[in-house]
Amino acid sequence: MKYSITVREFLEQSKAGNIDYLDFVAKLMEKTRALDEQYNFLITIEDLTKFVSIEPSFFGLPISVKDNICTARIQSTAGSRILEGYVPHFDATAVERLRAEGCRILGKTQQDEFGFGTFSTNSAYGVPKNPYDPQRSTGGSSGGAAGLAAALNMPHVALAESTGGSISCPASFCGVVGLTPTYGLVSRYGLIDYANSLDKIGLIGRQVYDVALLLSCIAGHDARDSTSLQEKKKDYTKHAAKKDLSGLRIGVPKEYFENVDEAVSRNVWSAIERLESLGASYSEFSLPTTKYALAAYYIIATAEASTNLAKYCGMRYGLHMPLEGTYNEYFSKVRAAGLGTEAKRRVMLGTFARMSGYRDAYYLKAMQVRTLIIRDFKKAFGKYDVIAAPTMPVAPPKFADIAKLTPLQNYQMDVLTVPANLAGIPHLSINCGFTNNMPVGLHLLGDHLAEAKLIETAAAFEREQK
Ligand code: GLN
Repeated sequence: MKYSITVREFLEQSKAGNIDYLDFVAKLMEKTRALDEQYNFLITIEDLTKFVSIEPSFFGLPISVKDNICTARIQSTAGSRILEGYVPHFDATAVERLRAEGCRILGKTQQDEFGFGTFSTNSAYGVPKNPYDPQRSTGGSSGGAAGLAAALNMPHVALAESTGGSISCPASFCGVVGLTPTYGLVSRYGLIDYANSLDKIGLIGRQVYDVALLLSCIAGHDARDSTSLQEKKKDYTKHAAKKDLSGLRIGVPKEYFENVDEAVSRNVWSAIERLESLGASYSEFSLPTTKYALAAYYIIATAEASTNLAKYCGMRYGLHMPLEGTYNEYFSKVRAAGLGTEAKRRVMLGTFARMSGYRDAYYLKAMQVRTLIIRDFKKAFGKYDVIAAPTMPVAPPKFADIAKLTPLQNYQMDVLTVPANLAGIPHLSINCGFTNNMPVGLHLLGDHLAEAKLIETAAAFEREQK
């Protein structure tokens, strides 16, 4: 039997008793291993053929989990050497909910160390390669998740995470669908923190239906995360059936087309016209605080990251070394060996931004900018249902070109993804075309808790594109 079927077909076929599950997982593991050899999408691969009891309602649907999301009995390193060998004895809430419904974890996906990066080139366990061209990046930091979703072409959905764009960016670069929910809609319990006020667990899949389906399972209040919203469970899949977009008002922020690659712009504009042909109307408008978002993001994100990384000292989990010297000497030795260059850079940047004397000038200022950005978006959502823009300013770059970027130029790649992440609003990236055979992403941004609107818009767009 052929298993190049969609998630929806897999569930229907399983329900009808038409899937030979043992045969299916055998083929799935074979393909996953072969892809991993070639593209390095995974840090850990599980063997799904070993255990065969399958449960409704997901009938053993394979999921992959980004390595910074804790999985009981499966190593969770967040891409860092300092967590090598760390095997949690508990599941993150999102994982627990998916397992309880019958999803099964096929492996842990490759990522930038702790999420620090845009190209998945900062992992201690290798670099995932773009399935459209192995000389190019999958994007990051959830690069393994997006690459696997694109290349596997079998029923599978990836659980991923975004702090400043780590779901949208790789989804765009790998031509798949990435959904980042409203901050607090999905519990962060069991997520290895990057920056607590920004981190969100979300999804990457081949189709809008896939991310809507899994969101319906993982969203909703969790008492174990104090920032979790008091939201009830909801079925998002019914929004994935939308066909026409009459009455939908789309805002197109003109700042989001500045310094964007010409071919990327062209693809996104043609997508906006296609949305119009489905019944939506659009107008251009201004989000004036856009230009401050990147600086504010990198202050807030590194300030929070630098405090979070303090717990990795070689005493409790992960990397250990022979105990010698004073505590400070020991901690320094472990961190020097266990953290990569970018992690060290961020600890230094973040520590500086939090230092007394600089705190008001940097961190507090950045928090004020964040408030203004939220205000800008709130104003826009008084007028528009959805904001449409390019996801990334460029098509997936070659590794050789990434190596030439300065850290600052690297950070600038996030200019279009950080504003929505600072505001905590939901966003979805969907493929809208190709340039030189490399995928281009359309970014849809919605108001807080307007996931259903994004799913409707993307689903209608996806159907039109086929
Ligand atoms: N590229 C951004 C950063 O390096 C976002 C990463 C993320 O969302 N985890 O901070």
